[in-house]
Amino acid sequence: MSQPIPVNEPLLDGNEKKYLSECIDTGWISSEGPFVKQFEEQFAAYVGRKYGIAVVNGSMALDAAIVALGIGKGDEVILPTFTIISCAAAITRSGAIPVVVDCEPDTWNTDVNLIEAKITPRTKAIMVVHIYGLPVDMEPVLALAAKYDLQIVEDAAEMHGQTYNERPCGSFGAISTFSFYPNKHITTGEGGMLVTDDPQLAERCRSLRNLCFQAQKRFVHEELGWNLRMSNMQAALGVAQLERLDEFVARKRRMGKYYTELLADIPGLQLPVAHTDYANNIYWVYGLVLQDQVPFDAAEIMRRLSQHKIGTRPFFWPMHEQPVWQKMGLFVGESCPVAERIARRGFYIPSGLALTDEQMERVASTLRQVME
Ligand SMILES: *Cc1c(COP(=O)(O)O)cnc(C)c1O
Repeated sequence: MSQPIPVNEPLLDGNEKKYLSECIDTGWISSEGPFVKQFEEQFAAYVGRKYGIAVVNGSMALDAAIVALGIGKGDEVILPTFTIISCAAAITRSGAIPVVVDCEPDTWNTDVNLIEAKITPRTKAIMVVHIYGLPVDMEPVLALAAKYDLQIVEDAAEMHGQTYNERPCGSFGAISTFSFYPNKHITTGEGGMLVTDDPQLAERCRSLRNLCFQAQKRFVHEELGWNLRMSNMQAALGVAQLERLDEFVARKRRMGKYYTELLADIPGLQLPVAHTDYANNIYWVYGLVLQDQVPFDAAEIMRRLSQHKIGTRPFFWPMHEQPVWQKMGLFVGESCPVAERIARRGFYIPSGLALTDEQMERVASTLRQVME
């Protein structure tokens, strides 16, 4: 019987071990160690930002971003319905109200033509979330933000190394956030980063990360923060991974291209878009959507692939269909037909950086077999 193919496996064969050993040899394992600053500076520079604030994960980076921007009770934030729970959770936890828009059927990104109709006098921000490998069409979003004086929060968790019209993803928000979970292009095990060009916002993020301790009266608190500090060991991994980000992006693009070649003639499969006017796909994950003529849904094909030990994940489940939000009385009567459809018919196949050509070939031939 053939070996299982996991949905994701990272590549850790650069300087990761060397830098981790340095942490242990020097005793610097906490967030006070030198790799944290180094990782923050190098990563921020990579995406063309002045400041980087390393945190525990990409989800909490969003929580901190929302609070740092002063978004709270009664404010509305527009975001895609087709995204991870972290985005809407950061909004509701601050007391603000998430307002969702549907996505495009081909890129699976926010349909930017639907945003303006959702803007009200209470709208404070647009949360841009780039999905699966292609960026959101930013030009119209920036124009709306300028016209209605809205902040932009950018979740670039899936976009390390991606650009929109040559400008780095992660450079568009008042604050932009990243995740370094092992399925992202670079990983620290768990980890995240906020990036910004505004020194005051950077300071606020640093304060929120560190329990809002104060410089003078350390244990007197004017505000509530969290402990979101990244350890030196995680940052050591981050520094080693960042050295290889360009190579990883090229590798992912090559993998995406190869999957597309292997899968192109299987009837019933909608493949990812290779490029748009403003970007070439970096295939954070290789997503597939079952076309309407296929008489079963994604859950069935995923079940069949798992029988052949091939790991998959379903697509995101739309925010407006989440029981947790419905119980809070959110999104009553909301309809986003594109997201509703791809949530049921979409899934992604093994896409990690350690995936070999042989494994991709086996995924493709198995998929061909189980689609029949
Ligand atoms: C992975 C991801 C997150 C969450 O990051 P974690 O580090 O897992 O908390 C947030 N947003 C998007 C778009 C993601 O893909």
